[in-house]
This record gives sequence, C-alpha cells and structure tokens, in this order.
Amino acid sequence: MKPLNEVIAACPPSGIRRFFDIAAEMDDVISLGVGEPDFVTPWRIREAGIYALEHGYTTYTSNAGLPALRMLICSDLQQRYSAEYEWDTECLITTGVSEGLDLALRVLLNPGDEVIVPEPCYVAYEPCVAFAGGTTVRVPTRWEDRFTVDVDVVAAAITPRTKAILIGSPANPTGAVQPRETLQALARLAEKHDLYLISDEIYDRLTYNGSHTCLGAVPEARERTVVLGGFSKAQAMTGWRVGWICAPQAVAELCVRVHQYTMLCAPHVSQLAAVEALTSAETDVSEMVADYDRRRRVFVKGLREIGLECPEPDGAFYAFPSIRSSGLDSETFAERLLKEQGVAVVPGNVFGPSGEGHVRCSYATALPQLETAVDRMAAFLQSL
Ligand code: PLP
Repeated sequence: MKPLNEVIAACPPSGIRRFFDIAAEMDDVISLGVGEPDFVTPWRIREAGIYALEHGYTTYTSNAGLPALRMLICSDLQQRYSAEYEWDTECLITTGVSEGLDLALRVLLNPGDEVIVPEPCYVAYEPCVAFAGGTTVRVPTRWEDRFTVDVDVVAAAITPRTKAILIGSPANPTGAVQPRETLQALARLAEKHDLYLISDEIYDRLTYNGSHTCLGAVPEARERTVVLGGFSKAQAMTGWRVGWICAPQAVAELCVRVHQYTMLCAPHVSQLAAVEALTSAETDVSEMVADYDRRRRVFVKGLREIGLECPEPDGAFYAFPSIRSSGLDSETFAERLLKEQGVAVVPGNVFGPSGEGHVRCSYATALPQLETAVDRMAAFLQSL
C-alpha cells in the first residue's frame, strides 16, 4: 500500500480540465464539454434561497441536515420507487453527491480493500476510492451492450479483498440506465459475497426511455446499499452544493459521524432551497427534462447523419458516440475538433479504457448550438 499522501500527490489532474484550458484561450467555442445544466436554478427555488437569507437562516443546521428536507427525500423515494428509508436514522444531507461518495467510501473501506467499478465511469470514482485507502478494480462495459453492466464480468473480478461495487445509473458519461434485472443480479452477487453496493443516482430524474430503478428499492440490495442522490442536475442546482445519502442505519450513522467533523452540515440556505425544490418545483424539473429529451433526439439524429454511430442514451444529458470511423484516437479527435472547429467535447478514454474510441458530448446546451456543433463536426470529419 502506498502512503496516502503519495496517492494524493500522484492523482493526475482531471482529463476534462485540459480541454477547458485550451477552450478558454479560444473565441467562438461551442462547449459540449461540461457536465452541468445550462439552465439557471428554477425561480421558485432561488426565491426560497433569497427568503432564507432575508430571514436570517444563516446558521448551521443539525449535522444530519434539516428534518424537513430528510422527510421530503424519504417520502419522494417512497413515492417514486417504493424505496423505504427512515428519515431520522437512514438519511443525511451532504454537500452534494461528491461529499456523499467520499463519505460512503471512507466509512466502508479499509486500507487495501477493492472496489469494483464498471467503466467508462464518472471521473471522481477512482480518485475517491484511492483517497479512502482503497483500490479500484475496473471492469469494462461494452457499447454493443449499450454500456449496461455484465454481471458475469463483475463476478469474475471479485477477490477476497473486494468490499464494494460502485455504479452510477443513469451514467456519466454513457447515459446508460441499468435495467432492473441487472441491478437484481448485482444485488444477488453482493449478497453471495457479502459486499456493499454504492449507487450514484444523481441523474435519476433524467431518464427518457422507461424509468430508473432505485437500487435501495431492490429487496436483495436494501441492507447493503448506499444510495447517493442530489439536486445538482435535475433541479439545476450545481452551485448550491446539496445532496443526500440514504443507507441502512449503521452505515448512515457512520457517515454522520465523519460528516459532523468534516463538513458539520450542508449549507443551511441551500437545504431550504432544496426543500422548495421537492415541494413545488416538479413542473420546472419536468420542463427541463422534456427540453433535454428534445435536444437528445435532435443531437443523436444529427450525429448519426454525419456518420458517427451513437447508442441511444437513455438517461443523464450525455451522448457518447463512437468516433472510430474517423481513424483518430479519442484524445486526438477531441483536441483537433476543438482547435480546428471550435467544438469542445471530452475524450472517452478520460472515463476509463472502454471509453476509448468515443467522445462525451453534453446536450445540456441550447438546440441551435447543438445543431451548429453537428455542422462543425461534419466539416471536421470531411477534412480528415
Ligand atoms: N456523480 C456523477 C455521476 C456526476 O456526473 C457528478 C457531476 O458531474 C457528481 C456525482 C457530482 O455531483 P454533486 O454536484 O452533487 O457533487
């Protein structure tokens, strides 16, 4: 085992950042690079934040977060997924899913423990596992399977050191939504080998073909699953820094124990805004989801028309087309597309080896810009 300070020092800068730096020096760039809604937070949520500030809600909250917010999160999970969580013992509010991920890994892992992570996956998973003293064991997913998890491949990666399986669904960067049967099979596998499941469900409301399954609602998984959720994506609240963990009581209690010393609590104003988000912003969310869906359909059709094969993304707001027909690797493709045509995308290899041959394009971008981006990509492909 490497000492932790060496692990941190060796952690490379995010592969996404490099492209932002190049784009920042250029004019007329269409950015499909960022994983962030292009909508501002819906007005009624912002208004709740303003009200909270005006009325002086500027203090800490309890460590686990506002009871009203925890009650709303648990009843929302109950209503949408029939997932049952006790708000007072099994739910805590975090400063975004980012903190939730960090907490879950820190309380579950011992030095040297292995975490199986299907890739391509969100760039923070592997560093966070390492910061918690663990080792990531990547398992590939294939675009022929639309990036759904092959449970046999996961099973083959289990060793006596395996402690957990970490999945994101709907997924960044592929947009894949794991089917219920896959989640059930993963749960059975976890049960057999006594493993935890960590389920990043930050994009749960952003699904377009059928619905998302909350892993906490899968009976075999319930007692060994940590569900992570938040408000950044569907409610367009990235900068408010508010998310949550729902987990069996013993795990939730340990998370609160760490969180009370490291964060104390998520921002009070943001928690009140999140209460409003769950109370009255469902229509705003549906409108944004409908807009992403329109863009998704136009963009994927456009990519296919210019000769880029693109599996249909079922969730989140990313398309992950294959760029193999260009003959370029994904880094070169992304760098040249940016420099020659002013379109920023993220090379797929940043998300793991199975992402090579793809680029991630965020369609959280206005429709006219998406259309121009497709035209520019066509010109780029023709120039090769
Ligand atoms: N999980 C995934 C899969 C993400 O894509 C992101 C942000 O891009 C996060 C977590 C971070 O979420 P938060 O803003 O709640 O910290």
